[in-house]
Amino acid sequence: MPLAYVLNPLDRRANDRPDAQWIATQRGRADAKLIRIAGDCALLNDGRLVTENDRAEEPVVFLGLDAQDVPWFACRSEAADGMRDLRSLAMEEALPPAELGMLAQARSLLQWHERRTYCSNCAARLEMADAGYRRHCPGCGMDHFPRTDPVVIMVVRHQGNILLGRQSSWKPGMYSALAGFVEPGETIEDAARREVFEESGVRLGAVSYVTSQPWPFLSNLMIGLVGDATSADITLDAKELEDARWFTRDEARMMVDRTHPDGFYAANPYAIAHELVKVALGGESAVHTS
Ligand SMILES: [Zn+2]
Repeated sequence: MPLAYVLNPLDRRANDRPDAQWIATQRGRADAKLIRIAGDCALLNDGRLVTENDRAEEPVVFLGLDAQDVPWFACRSEAADGMRDLRSLAMEEALPPAELGMLAQARSLLQWHERRTYCSNCAARLEMADAGYRRHCPGCGMDHFPRTDPVVIMVVRHQGNILLGRQSSWKPGMYSALAGFVEPGETIEDAARREVFEESGVRLGAVSYVTSQPWPFLSNLMIGLVGDATSADITLDAKELEDARWFTRDEARMMVDRTHPDGFYAANPYAIAHELVKVALGGESAVHTS
C-alpha cells in the first residue's frame, strides 16, 4: 500500500491563479472538474469521486491543472449520502493515489477558509483572493495565507532496537513513531530531540530526514525522520502516551508484517510511521518524491 496523500500531479499554476480572468476562464471550461468536501469527507458516487462542475457552494478554490491540462477545483459541501472520510479512502485504497493527493490539498485549503472568516489584526471580514491561496483584509490591508503546520515524526534506533509508542485512544495493538509539532524558532532536528525526550525520556543524537507526508487533519506536514538514541532508559510522559517501549528488530519486522504474536502492529500502512519503521529496519524508502 502506498503512502496516502503524497502523490499530487497537479500543476498549481501559482503565477496564473491570482489572475481572476484566467481563473474564470478555467472555471468556465466544459471539462473543468469540481470536487466536494465536507469536513474530513469527500463526495463519491458509485465508488468514484464526484467531479461534475455544476452548482457549487462558496468558497470555490483552485487546485491546479492535471497532466491533460484539465483544471480541478474544490468547494465545501453539506454532509450527504455518499460522503466518505479521507482516512477510510486511504485505508481501503478506494481511489487512485493522485486523487487522494488532490483531496488532501482541497481539504486543508477549504478548512482554512472556514476557520479564517475574520482578520486577526482588526476583526474585519476577510475576502478570498488568488483563487483561494490568500485572504485579504479590506479593513487594515493585511494579507493572510494558508497555514501548514510542521510535525516531526521519528523512529528512534538504539543497539538494534526500535522505540515506538502508543496513545490510549488508538486501536489495541497499534504502536507508532513518536511525533510532535515543531515550535517557533526551532530546527527540525531540535524539535525531534525535544519531542523524543519529552515523551520518552530518551536522548536523541543524530537525526536523518527520510521523507514527508501531507496530513490533512487539519493541515499538518509530517516530516519523517530516523534518529539514533544516545540513551535507552524510558521515562514515559503519561499525559501524551499510554506506553513506549523498545522493540527488537525481529519484533518490529513482525509488526510491519502484522504477524506479531501479541497482535502488535506498526501504524497503518498508508501513514508515514509505517514507512519509517521499514526504513529504520534497513529497507529502502518506497516513497516517490518526483
Ligand atoms: Zn484587518
